[in-house]
Amino acid sequence: MEFNLSEEQSLLIETTKSFVKNELLQHEELLEKTDNLPKELYQEIKKKSQEVGLYACNMPTEYGGGGLNAFDLTLVEKELGFTSLALAEIAWRPQNILMACNGKLIDEYLKPATTGERKDCIAMTEPGAGSDLRGMKTNAVLSGDDWIINGTKHFISNAHISDFVVLFASTGKDEKGRNLLSCFLVDLDLPGVEVAKGYDCVSHRGYVNNIIHFNDCKIPAVNILGEKDKGFELMNTWLEATRLTVAATSVSRAERAFDIALDWSANRKQFGKVIGKFQGVSFKLADMATEIKL
Ligand SMILES: Cc1cc2nc3c(=O)[nH]c(=O)nc-3n(C[C@H](O)[C@H](O)[C@H](O)COP(=O)(O)OP(=O)(O)OC[C@H]3O[C@@H](n4cnc5c(N)ncnc54)[C@H](O)[C@@H]3O)c2cc1C
Repeated sequence: MEFNLSEEQSLLIETTKSFVKNELLQHEELLEKTDNLPKELYQEIKKKSQEVGLYACNMPTEYGGGGLNAFDLTLVEKELGFTSLALAEIAWRPQNILMACNGKLIDEYLKPATTGERKDCIAMTEPGAGSDLRGMKTNAVLSGDDWIINGTKHFISNAHISDFVVLFASTGKDEKGRNLLSCFLVDLDLPGVEVAKGYDCVSHRGYVNNIIHFNDCKIPAVNILGEKDKGFELMNTWLEATRLTVAATSVSRAERAFDIALDWSANRKQFGKVIGKFQGVSFKLADMATEIKL
């Protein structure tokens, strides 16, 4: 069995690496100091990421995306993980769950999200429902030709610059009294939607999360993604891949932290020698390297 990367995959890694090195890394200091990503900088980097084909590289080629499969996308995510989350996210990979769009939702949401005309965010988490998503209170009730949505979501990444949200809400109960979930596409400029400031982060400088309130927000009945009450299945089909990308990103972050530690221990001198010569430090470095690489 061949485990080596193909020429195309190596090229993909090199392209992403050089994008990170040439277009993103130099802005990290600004974000660290100000905790703010200026709009002009965001637009400039977004345009460059579209030019090199990283923007929407996970989406279907027929709609203008890069068409990467899960493995190749993971290679890209790992390289993007080398820099700050706020910068890496400008080369946006839309929610792949949008590929479940059909009918008019394709033109209204899937295509413009892929071309970058419209931006998506995703809302599952609530103050009382994190890991336990079935415990969500946000609900949608069908009334004539509309869904009426009420509830609050929090920790929603980038909602402040998004045009619409992929929203999970309860649409009923099963025979055991557990929530049945459905997935909706909701424009964020509708009456009854309020995108509020989220929480300050201890890290991830320049990255923004929001709280979104839905108060009798009305959306067309057709704005449901997949089938009613099958939101959990939809989540499992499309969102599992993010586990891989989060893991890949974390490896890159660990590598970067290791490089910094290695560099410091090779240059910082105490008691007449570099601190990396002390076993207490070198053993730690060896353990770190082993855990990251094996
Ligand atoms: C950077 C970032 C971006 C995010 N962006 C979004 C977004 O765009 N949209 C969105 O909807 N959400 C987003 N989230 C929220 C994220 O999905 C939640 O943080 C996550 O689901 C966990 O929920 P919680 O924080 O409420 O933790 P909790 O569910 O309260 O968990 C707290 C701790 O308890 C542990 N725990 C919980 N249940 C169990 C169990 N049964 N057994 C053992 N341990 C358990 C957890 O592992 C965790 O360590 C984001 C989070 C982060 C950090």
